[in-house]
Amino acid sequence: MEFSAPQKRFCVIGDPVSHSKSPLLQTALLAHLGVDAEYLCKPVTAGELPDFLEEVRRGAWQGFNATMPHKVPLLSLLDRLDSSAEEYGAVNTVCNRDGILYGYNTDGPGFLRALADFGVSPAQKRVTVLGAGGAAKAVTRALVKGGAASITLCNRTPERSLALAAESSIMVTCGFSPSQLARGMEGCDLLVNCTSLGMTGGPGNFETLDFLSHLPPHAAVCDLIYAPAETPLLSAARAGGHPTMNGLPLLLHQGILSLSHFLGVPL
Ligand code: NAP
Repeated sequence: MEFSAPQKRFCVIGDPVSHSKSPLLQTALLAHLGVDAEYLCKPVTAGELPDFLEEVRRGAWQGFNATMPHKVPLLSLLDRLDSSAEEYGAVNTVCNRDGILYGYNTDGPGFLRALADFGVSPAQKRVTVLGAGGAAKAVTRALVKGGAASITLCNRTPERSLALAAESSIMVTCGFSPSQLARGMEGCDLLVNCTSLGMTGGPGNFETLDFLSHLPPHAAVCDLIYAPAETPLLSAARAGGHPTMNGLPLLLHQGILSLSHFLGVPL
């Protein structure tokens, strides 16, 4: 029996990257679409990135996804940037078209698609975001683009939330102590957890979830974490009667949008 190599090769790069669910997701999507391709996990350190890009330009890969620590450095290393990469200030998807590397961002647009599936439009909503790291940056930019009325940023390190809030006049900062978190919930329509608190293998859990009792009853609660499928935050919010969404729809939508760029077809 003869085996032939797949026509197209894609991968996800990062350091670390072995935990990534992208190979599982993309392999399933590629098979579903009947595309003859493989999608692998490839550890690439920050120092190895320029050599890896040369490997891509020489045709070893038709495209790749990028996770930490490459999303921002890629901005200055690619040949062309899509408006999404400029808008979100980070690249998570790169397409190789005849040796020219094009960068895209599908995290922000993927979050908006996930919210739409959840039945929530950010337009005119008062949103509270926990965290001020890379995910919070993509989420807040998507929320601003989606027409949110206001965004309250609660983060442990005030310098990071202040720097993020400086991006838009609709953003204000609030601290991360239990009483400050409680204040951040008041009048909120949508709460989004962009910290890694509650994540499997992460830094631990919220000191207390009592702040959830200050959420208006109608408020929806979203956690970007998908492992575990239900964090203590989501579990408590659901017990309190709030509609909840975990991070899986974001993972799925950013992946579908990446594949759409790789294959050059709308998905
Ligand atoms: P990051 O840039 O490292 O930011 C981590 C955030 O968590 C920061 O705001 C940090 O606060 C906060 N944090 C960490 N440990 C904390 C602690 N002990 N107490 C209070 N705050 C703490 O990470 P990221 O890329 O933004 O990712 C954040 C989370 O989103 C991760 O769990 C990641 O898995 C998830 N995520 C999911 C998807 C998806 O597809 N569903 C996509 C992206 C990210 P400081 O600023 O004070 O350090």
